[in-house]
Amino acid sequence: MNEYDTNRIYDTVKNIGYFKTNDHLNTDCYLLNTCHIRDKSKEKVFDEIGRVRKNYKNKKKPIMIVAGCVAQAESSEMIKREPYIDIIIGPQSYHKINKIIENFNFNKKEELTEFDTEDKFNYLDKIKNHDSKVSSFLTIQEGCDKFCSFCVVPYTRGAEYSRPFKKIIEEAESLVKNGTKEITLLGQNVNAYYFKDKNKSYKLSDLILELDKINDLIRIRYTTSHPKDMTDDLIECYSSSKKLMPFIHLPIQSGSDKILKLMNRNHKVEKYLETYKLIKQKNHNVEFSSDFIIGYPGEMECDFNDTMNLIKEIKFINSYSFIFSPRPGTPASKLEPVDNEIAKERLINLQRELEGHQIKKNASLVNSSVEVLVENKLKNQKNYFGRNVFLNSVLFEGEDKYIGKLVNVKIEKTNRNTLFGRIDKNKSMRAA
Ligand code: SAM
Ligand code: SF4
Repeated sequence: MNEYDTNRIYDTVKNIGYFKTNDHLNTDCYLLNTCHIRDKSKEKVFDEIGRVRKNYKNKKKPIMIVAGCVAQAESSEMIKREPYIDIIIGPQSYHKINKIIENFNFNKKEELTEFDTEDKFNYLDKIKNHDSKVSSFLTIQEGCDKFCSFCVVPYTRGAEYSRPFKKIIEEAESLVKNGTKEITLLGQNVNAYYFKDKNKSYKLSDLILELDKINDLIRIRYTTSHPKDMTDDLIECYSSSKKLMPFIHLPIQSGSDKILKLMNRNHKVEKYLETYKLIKQKNHNVEFSSDFIIGYPGEMECDFNDTMNLIKEIKFINSYSFIFSPRPGTPASKLEPVDNEIAKERLINLQRELEGHQIKKNASLVNSSVEVLVENKLKNQKNYFGRNVFLNSVLFEGEDKYIGKLVNVKIEKTNRNTLFGRIDKNKSMRAA
């Protein structure tokens, strides 16, 4: 979502004459768009600002803007700790960035942290989304009302908000006109999308089926979804949609009902398994990935074993796993943490298990021909980059004419993250 936001901020500031530069040592304005989900990301922001301060020691100071969720959560604290920062701008206020920059003077710090989500999207809807990548993100929903005990999102992104159905379709059509072939619908809780017009209401499944009708769009994805919002209509899309990819990132966090309850996740492991089975019944090719939090306060060896057993049962093909990071202001931050050494050991075991499934799945593709949407040529290399339906990176020798097209790549070798191969000459290239 930060990538989408950064692009939209760029679409906005272009209108007052600010353009992207690769010349990091000679800029008028620096903008850092930040993430607050775990503690390390905040420290990265301060490290980066320290580097900029050093680089500009004997030069005209650029306007230093910190945007995103760290800005929202820490606001004046950040300026106190790092006076090099000039402007703080939260994720629901960045549509006001042009006014702030135009009226800026170095004698006054500015902070914008209101939750103006609706105004933000109304403003952005009037500015063309210039993204022209083969694979583009499109935010349809923001914020969260679920308040999992460990998570800062409800405090930094604010309450759940769903964008108007028509505006999303218009933006998707415009992206496709720019050259986009794959759209990933985004939201902190993307499957909680719900928009009510005068007499009709729309859900994520309605969006997917409407996007299906856009001729030159080849693939549809969505992320990140919550198990509780996997409704029957959405599950049905895995057989009714022609373009929805057979891969779903559906975070469960833990395989223990006790821990899920402590996390305030509001669903049980059984519900997750039921969703898994229903989706597989609709389309047995669908593969799953998840997020896991290890060492959540109260996690015992038996809870961890439940998580390991779930991984063995589902065989997730690609997942994210982290040690619990206490976030200021969340209920879980006040709880007694699990011993760090124990948590680390559990994380290593869990990642080993996850990697095993990932490596095995990738290896099973050797000698087969996989369908790849070609995104770009790698910088200073002869290889081209694309993704298969399961979102695996695929590297292969190609030609520029394949960019934006579906090609078949015969896989020759694989590692944990990447498949390597060459164009399968027996199968023809498919345009959108
Ligand atoms: N809304 C999605 C859901 O509920 O499944 C997840 C979105 S959250 C922004 C992304 C991931 O960050 C979570 O799934 C969780 O695994 C991880 N995360 C969030 N807070 C965390 C914390 N305090 N410590 C460790 N990981 C955390
Ligand atoms: Fe955070 Fe996801 Fe829970 Fe919302 S549902 S509070 S975004 S983890």
